[in-house]
Amino acid sequence: MILAQLPRIHFSIFAKSHFSLSSSHFNFINPKPPVSVARTLFSFAAKSNIATVEPIPLPVSDSSDLDDAPVEISLDKLFIPPETDISGDDPSTLTARILKGSNIVLSKYARDAQVVQADYVKSSVKTEDCPADGIPEFALVGRSNVGKSSLLNSLVRRKRLALTSKKPGKTQCINHFRINDNWYLVDLPGYGYASAPHEKKVDWNKFTKDYFLNRSTLVSVFLLVDASIPPKQIDLDYASWLGQNQVPMTMVFTKCDKRKKKKNGGKRPEENIKEFQDLIQGFFETTPPWIMTSSVTNQGRDEILLHMAQLRNYWLKH
Ligand code: GDP
Repeated sequence: MILAQLPRIHFSIFAKSHFSLSSSHFNFINPKPPVSVARTLFSFAAKSNIATVEPIPLPVSDSSDLDDAPVEISLDKLFIPPETDISGDDPSTLTARILKGSNIVLSKYARDAQVVQADYVKSSVKTEDCPADGIPEFALVGRSNVGKSSLLNSLVRRKRLALTSKKPGKTQCINHFRINDNWYLVDLPGYGYASAPHEKKVDWNKFTKDYFLNRSTLVSVFLLVDASIPPKQIDLDYASWLGQNQVPMTMVFTKCDKRKKKKNGGKRPEENIKEFQDLIQGFFETTPPWIMTSSVTNQGRDEILLHMAQLRNYWLKH
């Protein structure tokens, strides 16, 4: 069952006799033009509505690992999709609506998430060369070695589909894969090779920026971040750039199965994730959606697909 409680995560749900979070209460951010419809519709500012309510702790940890201290999520750190009213939910109902291992609340648009068919379509080096059929798409991007190909293969349940974009000449391209004949997964070039001297600056290709800013069918970027290591500056820079340019973004934390031994100074994925979020929160008016994944255990696979489905179905309707 996907709609289960978050493992190893405690909530402090800010609850009172009523929530004040119906979609009508959201303030829209004014994105700078040119922007897609999706960019406008998925930018919310909800913080001000919940600052005054009291926190009620809601323990939901099912962890038997005593080493695992709980991570806290408060209501203002949830991603509440548009047209989603949680005002009638008591804390346990709300918890059941949050996708496992994420801060994402499910909306009525979360349907038709299954991947039945996946086909490589084309590789482009310019936004103008990308498919022009107007169907919605999600772009996967992340540092080289973050686990992007593994995640793509896991999402489509194909062992080698992502190999297509690792072929010579295609690693620096915008690679389109059509899913179920009605939406695209887009594999973008990996950035920031560890040995590169210019690791600190955002060194992605110009065309990638152009794609983010001008691709009108882009529903959301999925920024992959390795949760098995502490935050890297280049990933923070990437998140910052997306935030400042109001490009809708979901953070996908990869390799959540890798648990370093505490005695060696290693941090748990949850701790690295929390640190990453603390570092980027200033770049966003509201907390972006985030989700924990592992291509080894398939953690987060179904949850990502449901999240993509709800974004996509909403986008199609508006
Ligand atoms: P890409 O360069 O971003 O496409 O990364 P790959 O998918 O090729 O993965 C890079 C390395 O990380 C490979 O050795 C993978 O086996 C490993 N890897 C990818 N995803 C995971 C994961 O979820 N858990 C673990 N433990 N290793 C992973």
